[in-house]
Amino acid sequence: MAACMPGRTPGPVGIAEQQQPCRYRAHPARRSRPRGPGVGVPSCHYPVAPRPDRRLAAEVPCDLCIVEPTTYRQHAMIRFIFLSLLAMPVFSVPAQAGESEVVDAWCDYLGNRLRSVSADACHAQNFVAAEVRTPQGNPLVTRDIPAAGQAGTEAKRILVIGGIHGDELTSISVVFRWLDWLGQADAATYQWRVIPVANPDGLMAKPSTRVNANGVDLNRNFQTPDWDRDAQDYWVKRTRRDPRRYPGKSAGSEAETRWLQDQIADYRPDLIISVHAPYNLLDYDGPVPEPMRFGRLSLNRLGVYPGSMGNYAGVFKQIPVITIELPNATSMPSQRDQQAMWEDMLKWVRHNIKDLAVPGPTAKR
Ligand SMILES: [Zn+2]
Repeated sequence: MAACMPGRTPGPVGIAEQQQPCRYRAHPARRSRPRGPGVGVPSCHYPVAPRPDRRLAAEVPCDLCIVEPTTYRQHAMIRFIFLSLLAMPVFSVPAQAGESEVVDAWCDYLGNRLRSVSADACHAQNFVAAEVRTPQGNPLVTRDIPAAGQAGTEAKRILVIGGIHGDELTSISVVFRWLDWLGQADAATYQWRVIPVANPDGLMAKPSTRVNANGVDLNRNFQTPDWDRDAQDYWVKRTRRDPRRYPGKSAGSEAETRWLQDQIADYRPDLIISVHAPYNLLDYDGPVPEPMRFGRLSLNRLGVYPGSMGNYAGVFKQIPVITIELPNATSMPSQRDQQAMWEDMLKWVRHNIKDLAVPGPTAKR
């Protein structure tokens, strides 16, 4: 790869990126280079980490959070003890009750934490908690929605991930909004797996944090082929040891990251949609034509980072990954903007996720 000279060009959304000129020069070569396992990404593709952190800091007080009367774990414990006392005189608690209690308490917490998500709406989703727990003991939950009107197993699979950065609250709330819309005709022809909060420890920290409880940015911790070569170096030299972007001691060091990788391996999605904030843009990695615009969000490729999900799934695994960067981490887009984004997204899916052959063994379903 030709040498790339750092420049300084403000991005279209006002994000300072020292590598922006490099990114645009490198882009055609990146498209034409061979792809697949073991193919590294030239270091000149990596933009210097943008600096939305200051925007995030400026956005307090957060308009989605309300007072937390207890921590999640306290809440779970109180609820469990209370319900156990109620049940004790009549019957013993079945073994499964503990698991549903965990999800119920998690929903109660979320209902208190996010103004746009009610505990009742969360309970109604019947989320399933994985056996894996976060370092703080929080559950990682999913919901599968089968395709309507057919056996379902042949329908394309879409994996939706919110809240991989715990302080991007709108990325969780928007995913809950989509859960309400997945039954609509255009969406019901696909199978969906929804992970509303990939980093519950970060969400439940006070204040919420981008990183998990071990201080690791999960979106820099995926086991990409370039991780060992580039991740630490990039963190030290390019982010100047930004604690919000610490990639971890080793690739896949975090339970949440390994679990997300397992979700991708098990579900074998035809498309991954990962929701973030607050860059106000679309990003894309993968083998099909890129989306240009969803509602007010326009394509503005941020580059490929060592250990990111776009790098892991889009470049390494060749699964299309759309990254939606909402305009604000704590304030939801207007209903109209959400609707426009949703409709454009489904239109793109309809045109691009149909005959795509994803390599590898048959999916477990
Ligand atoms: Zn993010």
